[in-house]
Amino acid sequence: MNEHYPFVNTPLPYAYDAMEPYIDRKTMELHHDKHLQAYIDHLNLILKEYRGLQKLSLEKLIVNAPCYPRQIQSSILNNAGGVYNHRFFFSNLVNTGEIKPVGELSAQIDATFDNYFKFREKFVNAALSVFGSGYAWLVADQKKRLYIITTPNQNTPLLQNLCPILCIDVWEHAYYLKYYNVRASYINAWFHVINWKQANINYMQFI
Ligand code: MN
Repeated sequence: MNEHYPFVNTPLPYAYDAMEPYIDRKTMELHHDKHLQAYIDHLNLILKEYRGLQKLSLEKLIVNAPCYPRQIQSSILNNAGGVYNHRFFFSNLVNTGEIKPVGELSAQIDATFDNYFKFREKFVNAALSVFGSGYAWLVADQKKRLYIITTPNQNTPLLQNLCPILCIDVWEHAYYLKYYNVRASYINAWFHVINWKQANINYMQFI
């Protein structure tokens, strides 16, 4: 279900107001129901014309993009990336007061960045450094090494052969209603709703 064309917008796994007061209800509604929906609609519209791509998963659509006809390469990457990134972002949120990494991922964060607070500082700086629209990510390579990277627009780490562990969407639509232009406040708020349990699962399942 929903592994390939036609993609559908599955409901959020929590209520729209579940991340209050860190991420407000209205932002969640618009972000999921309008922004993500638009990426899904555009992706389906493109794939309608390309039967050969209709059985491919989002991940396959993205990593195979260099093989596609030039005229659809960027629109597939933008829209499949938009769906993939948003689903990833939404699936990594929880509002249970747990704000520290867990499991093997926690140990690896300490080993890589010295401690959680240094990791956090680096991640915040990366998210702040995104010029215009994009994402900051915690990713792992094939040797389980961790990196903090940023991607512009709807690019994904998959194209760099990196496994996503965690991401923050820093497009203005992700925070403008509540935080206006103050991205730093949004990033700090987001740290209260990171689903570290899920992030640890992401870390373990790719490797
Ligand atoms: Mn977004």
